[in-house]
Amino acid sequence: MKKIAIAGAGAMGSRIGSQLKKAGYDVTLIDFWDEHVQAINDRGLEIQTETDTYHIDIPACKPEDAEARYDLIIILTKAMHSEVMLQTLLDRGAIYEDTAILTLMNGLGHDERFAQIIPTTQVFLAVTVWTAGLRGPGQILLEGTGRIDLQRADGENDARTEAIVEMFNHAHLNAYISDNVIQTVWEKATLNSVLNPLCTILDKTIFEFSSYPDARQQIEPIIDEIIAVAKAKGIQLNAQTLIQKIESTYPKNAQGLHYPSMHQDLYRGRLTEIDYLNGQISAYGREFGIPTPNNDMLLHLIHQLEMTHVKG
Ligand code: NAD
Repeated sequence: MKKIAIAGAGAMGSRIGSQLKKAGYDVTLIDFWDEHVQAINDRGLEIQTETDTYHIDIPACKPEDAEARYDLIIILTKAMHSEVMLQTLLDRGAIYEDTAILTLMNGLGHDERFAQIIPTTQVFLAVTVWTAGLRGPGQILLEGTGRIDLQRADGENDARTEAIVEMFNHAHLNAYISDNVIQTVWEKATLNSVLNPLCTILDKTIFEFSSYPDARQQIEPIIDEIIAVAKAKGIQLNAQTLIQKIESTYPKNAQGLHYPSMHQDLYRGRLTEIDYLNGQISAYGREFGIPTPNNDMLLHLIHQLEMTHVKG
C-alpha cells in the first residue's frame, strides 16, 4: 500500500494519519474544513501529548482538490459526512478498483451505505479503542493507548487486510485481524447507543450516570431492543457481555470522568451521530417489524436537543 489518504482528518483521522506519517508512510489528510486544511499546510499538524507538543509535516487538501489515486483510504469523517466524502473522492478519480476503503467510524450500517457507492469487496470495517481530541484547526491532543480490530466488511479473507494490519503495527497502532468485525462493531455501537444519549440528555459524566442506583434498569431495555434487532440481522449479541462492557467504563479510573463524544458534539453546537446509533436501530426495527420504543425515544430526545443547540 503505497499511497494512503485519511478522509476526515479530525481528532481520530489525525491520530491515525500522524502515526502512519511518523512511521514513514506516504499520507495525505483530506478534510472539508478549510481552516483546518490551511493550518496543517501552513504550520504542520500540531500534536500535544501527555509530555510534549510538536509539529509534523503532512500534506492536506480538500476532497474536491484530491488529485492522486490512493491504495488505502481511511474514512474518519463524522458518520453523516462519510457518503459525500466517499462520492467526492470517487468522482475525483482517487479510488480505483483495488483501493481499500477502511472506516473506523462509530455507528452501524456504514458498510451497507458504502456498498451503494463502491463494491463491497473494497469495504473494510474496523473498531478502535484509541481516542483523540481536536483542540482547534490543525491542533490535536493524543493521550493513552488503544488497539484496532479490522476485517473486510463481507468477512472474506483479503491480502489487503494483512497489509493494513502490518502497516498499522509498524505505526504502533496495535492492530489485529478480526474474525467477526461486525459483531465487534455492534458491541461498540451498543455501548455508544446506551451511554452517549443517556449522558447527553442527563448532562452527566459516565460516573455520574452510573451513581444512580437503578442505572442498570435504565440500560437493560435499550440493550434488549438492540439484541433483538441484531438477531434479525443474523448477529448474536449477549446481554451479560454487553452489560459488563458498559459497566466496566463506569469507574473514575476507567472512562467515568468523561462525557461521551455525543455530549461534547452537542454542547459545541455540532450535530451528533445519533442517526447511526439508536436511529439505525430504530430503522432496522421498522425493517424487521421489531418494536424499539426505547431507542426511538432516545433518538427523538437527542434530535430535540440538536434543534436547541446546533446552529445553522
Ligand atoms: P472530529 O469532530 O474530531 O472530526 C470529524 C470531522 O469533523 C473532521 O472532518 C473534522 O475536520 C470536522 N470538524 C471538527 N470540528 C470542526 C469544526 N469546528 N468546523 C468544521 N469541521 C469540523 O471527530 P472524530 O472524533 O475524529 O470522529 C471521527 C469518527 O471516529 C466518528 O465516527 C467517531 O465516532 C469515531 N471515533 C472517534 C474517537 C475519538 O476518540 N475521537 C474514538 C473512536 C471512534
